[in-house]
Amino acid sequence: MKDILDVIRGRDAGEIEFHQAVQEVVESVKPVLDRNPEFRQTAVLERITEPERVIMFRVPWMDDQGNVWVNRGFRIEMNSAIGPYKGGLRFHPSVTLSILKFLAFEQTFKNALTTLSMGGGKGGSDFDPKGKSDNEVMRFCQSFMAELFRHIGPNTDIPAGDIGVGAREIGFLFGMYKKLRNEFTGVLTGKSLGWGGSLVRPEATGYGCVYFAQEMLASRSETLEGKTCLVSGSGNVAQYTVEKIIELGGKVVTLSDSSGYIYDEEGIDKGKLDFVKRLKNVRRGRIQEYVDKYSETVYTEADSTLDHNPLWDHWAHCAFPCATQNEINENDAYHLINQGIKLVCEGANMPCTPGAVDIFQDKKILYAPGKAANAGGVAVSGLEMAQNSMRLNWTRQEVDDRLQVIMKSIHQTCLDAAAEYGVPGDYLAGANIAGFVKVVNAMLDQGLV
Ligand code: GLU
Repeated sequence: MKDILDVIRGRDAGEIEFHQAVQEVVESVKPVLDRNPEFRQTAVLERITEPERVIMFRVPWMDDQGNVWVNRGFRIEMNSAIGPYKGGLRFHPSVTLSILKFLAFEQTFKNALTTLSMGGGKGGSDFDPKGKSDNEVMRFCQSFMAELFRHIGPNTDIPAGDIGVGAREIGFLFGMYKKLRNEFTGVLTGKSLGWGGSLVRPEATGYGCVYFAQEMLASRSETLEGKTCLVSGSGNVAQYTVEKIIELGGKVVTLSDSSGYIYDEEGIDKGKLDFVKRLKNVRRGRIQEYVDKYSETVYTEADSTLDHNPLWDHWAHCAFPCATQNEINENDAYHLINQGIKLVCEGANMPCTPGAVDIFQDKKILYAPGKAANAGGVAVSGLEMAQNSMRLNWTRQEVDDRLQVIMKSIHQTCLDAAAEYGVPGDYLAGANIAGFVKVVNAMLDQGLV
């Protein structure tokens, strides 16, 4: 076990987020390897931690003033054992090979948990859409796709959105793909409704996350009714997490972006959430504007010199980190525990550091890893692919029902796998084990490829 981590640390030196994601899975699946000696003999860990293919490319583009910029584009085709590569594209200045490899690695297990036939992939660029005009974003997307198109396809690799890539970017990317290939296919998911998108895809990650939390609470005979919740982020995942919590009778008191966070003691109601949606999705403004509109609320600026994020200091029953990786560290975890938190459900990918996860598990609170709790987004992407292949559209009710069935199934699968391997109630180990076993069995069936 230690060997594989040493090999990766040596070979992929500096890829700390990737090391972190691998270490977590490797630790969880030790009992699986002990029970199945053929897994070690066939070097499954070595194989599953090495991407099948990594594509890195130059993305030149011109801004509105005529200046030329060069960004770096990536697509990590991690694992295609159970289906074509599937996973989002992230446009954010923090994007590196390490970030995208960790995301692609996590995606492989997440997609396996959805019960649908999708392999794992991830891609993106260090391009920052913040402050760019629509035309600049369009030119960037077109340049990005001018290279990516030759590597993807509806049966090969199907990208989607992630941080910095929403409906606008998917539209520009799709337009360029269609022009270059001269074919209209389901090569991307997260498309707009009028041209191949699925109902409930925008809501899916957030709704799915709350459905998962509902299942966890039900296992302790509790519900979200009357629960106070902390939500971080204010993008797609956070918005629909808040929407579903409100619908189920919970109260959300926080939202954030990279500049700071707002605290609304009264709770964010549907009207306030509509304001946030317009602010973030249409005007592309900062969350600070929330306090200009709702003056009884408080805005706190982000302070990178602090050893914790004060958003997590507030009293609440449940926490839904929906912003980005490693946003809850050990200090935040202690603050949450001291405030009596009962549940932490990850809407983002890997938002809790390993130290924070250890604390939650040690204190026996309900903790759900992102690869299980936020799988609703990619699950509905899988449903979008199915609808595209059949050339028909399901109703909102039909998609939402399927999403709920999938989230319930993921919850049960995690519990079953955890119980089978002697760690009952451990959702982290359960998710890692169930995803790993499914992918590895497929790899073994398909020989040494
Ligand atoms: N980026 C999302 C995720 O982290 C969705 C991916 C997709 O729909 O392919 O799972």
